[in-house]
Amino acid sequence: MRKPFIAGNWKMFKTTKEAVAFADEFKKLYEQSDVLAGICAPYTQLAALVEAFKGTGIKVGAQNMHFEENGAYTGEVSADMLNEIGVEYCVIGHSERRQYFNETDETVNKKLHTAFKHNILPIVCVGEVLEERDAGKEFDVVKTQMVGALKDLTADQVASLVVAYEPVWAIGTGRTATPEQANEMCGYIRKVIEDIYGDEVSEKVIIQYGGSVKPNNATELMNMEEIDGALVGGASLVPQDFIQIVNF
Ligand code: PEP
Repeated sequence: MRKPFIAGNWKMFKTTKEAVAFADEFKKLYEQSDVLAGICAPYTQLAALVEAFKGTGIKVGAQNMHFEENGAYTGEVSADMLNEIGVEYCVIGHSERRQYFNETDETVNKKLHTAFKHNILPIVCVGEVLEERDAGKEFDVVKTQMVGALKDLTADQVASLVVAYEPVWAIGTGRTATPEQANEMCGYIRKVIEDIYGDEVSEKVIIQYGGSVKPNNATELMNMEEIDGALVGGASLVPQDFIQIVNF
């Protein structure tokens, strides 16, 4: 049985003071249950969140990391640095990073290898843009992203992966994929994994949906058979909203 995982992606929002205020409020609302909750925050908030969530079961993730171990990469942060401060997850290949920071399937794959080497669990994002869906190419696009991301990973690594299916046209737009559209693609992603690694591995992978998940649509989406959780942007910024999604 896969445990549902609802992760917040704060993007470039909240100062450390605001992050700690969120954590203090959210941990009062969160009761450990069959649903895992996590927050993926900007780098400067991570250590404070790890401290604030200690003993609660709430996970902390980064939103990016470099694929090299270390080196002359001004402004970058390594997987080892994240691991050292108690960060357990990292979003990799978010569409905003693909769009604005030239991330490719190749860099995503390199980051996955480095993340696993340093005990960081990746939340790898895939998803098509609107023109690709309108052209009927969404399955091909997502398959290419998945195959590229998984290159040369071991079965054990893939089994512990989190995949977030995030149709780019649904991120921050208020336009959610229908539960049927989201379910269909999450099922397809599991099939792509199964074709490479077999069903014992594919059945273990957590596959989230992301794209304008809100308190009023979370239940319907999360109850779909192939959807194991959500990656939540805007609605993860307010504890009272995020807890409603976690308690779908
Ligand atoms: C995201 O940031 O990954 C996301 C899905 O954002 P939103 O929920 O705001 O659409």
